[in-house]
Amino acid sequence: MGLLDAGKTVRRKEKDIRILAQFVQVFCRENHPSPKKRFEYRHLDSGRYLPKAVMLCEECHDLLTHGLTKLLLCPHDPKPMCKKCTTHCYRPGYREQVRQVMRFSGMYLIKHGRLDLLAHYFL
Ligand SMILES: [Zn+2]
Repeated sequence: MGLLDAGKTVRRKEKDIRILAQFVQVFCRENHPSPKKRFEYRHLDSGRYLPKAVMLCEECHDLLTHGLTKLLLCPHDPKPMCKKCTTHCYRPGYREQVRQVMRFSGMYLIKHGRLDLLAHYFL
């Protein structure tokens, strides 16, 4: 299996995994009218670790796949806030894309009273 053999790593990062997926999903839903398909990630038991039925367009599918891979392979433990991190995870272009997603979805969730989803990031 390789990459995520260590179930422990996945469990420890479960919250980060969910939040990343949630943020990308909100962003995609609100910004991309393109056709969507259910997000699958071969290294994770999607039913268990991802919010139910994450529907994404192809571009966001790609973004989340890359983001999750980086998250799970983050060499720092505990993972620092990304903006304070010295490791440049995201491949060129992705950094900006992820930043945009986080900014948009963060504002969206605040406006819709879903602070519970953000607490992890700010507390
Ligand atoms: Zn999208």
